[in-house]
Amino acid sequence: MITGKTALVGLIGQPVQHSLSPVIHNAALREMELDWCYLALPCESLELGNILKSLRALNCKGLNVTIPHKQTITKFCSKLSPVAQRVGAVNTLIPNKSDGWIGTNTDVAGFIAPLIEKKKDWKGNKSIILGCGGSARAVVAGLQDMKISDITVIGRNQEKLKHFLNHFKNEKLKNNLQMKPTPLKGLLESEGNLSKDLKEADLIINTTPIGMKMFNKSDSDNKNIPLGINFWNDLKENVTLYDLIYTPRPTAWLQYGERRGYNCINGLNMLIHQGAAALKLWSNYNEIPINAMESAAENFLMLNS
Ligand code: NAP
Repeated sequence: MITGKTALVGLIGQPVQHSLSPVIHNAALREMELDWCYLALPCESLELGNILKSLRALNCKGLNVTIPHKQTITKFCSKLSPVAQRVGAVNTLIPNKSDGWIGTNTDVAGFIAPLIEKKKDWKGNKSIILGCGGSARAVVAGLQDMKISDITVIGRNQEKLKHFLNHFKNEKLKNNLQMKPTPLKGLLESEGNLSKDLKEADLIINTTPIGMKMFNKSDSDNKNIPLGINFWNDLKENVTLYDLIYTPRPTAWLQYGERRGYNCINGLNMLIHQGAAALKLWSNYNEIPINAMESAAENFLMLNS
């Protein structure tokens, strides 16, 4: 029950009304018997500074951050965790004791969790990332943590791809964080010669919105599958396809992969694990009820798909 003592946690972004985060977080809070309420709070870019200041003044216990603020919000944080510096993006804010917000990134932990559940050791495996936007940054950091042997990023825009690769090649950042470099290369979609890299990959991750329920413009699988259907029929036998999208589940790409017998992972587990990692930081609880979060998400998606 919401009372006069109930504290606020929430998500800021725009749009936020389709987010599953309130469903999974409130399910966890009920189970943890914490007198907090998690709300999706629409926030325009121009209002970001004011809203952050006001929520801190209201003693808000923690915030998640989504599109379009994950990168710009770094400027409003009084401190950034090493992982947020490395990724160059923040998806979680923790109230700083003295003032303002500490920015961190739990997408990295969320991305890794389902991979480790499938296979303990990914050391030395080759990976491909489709897309070079915000979530692809967390994916690179996760793959580096897993000691993947090399990472190839496929993008559609030369300038954006270059900017993305430069962030991770930044020597100052690597020296500050004492990182060993993981070979990272970029390929343009239009270069055409992608098949060789795709055939050699052990893990392929889709971070583009192609296949998303809201994004699908056609009934044709070819248009709802990244790069088109022809690229996916001749991959390594034990390849893993990981789609960050969770509506629909599975996407047309993963359905195709499942039919061919590839290992497939959808984005729901990542969403739940990044949320659980944020809740752990806000609450200082050791145990977060992941099962309650999963059941709430499954029920909600079943009733609303
Ligand atoms: P983003 O920052 O907009 O990045 C999307 C990337 O996909 C960009 O590189 C973009 O290229 C590329 N792209 C978009 N449309 C494309 C197309 N038609 N063909 C080829 N490339 C295209 O978005 P994001 O925040 O990374 O999110 C991407 C997806 O991941 C979304 O579906 C989101 O729901 C999902 N996601 C899931 C989780 C989870 O917890 N499961 C977490 C984060 C994100 P341009 O820059 O050239 O437009």
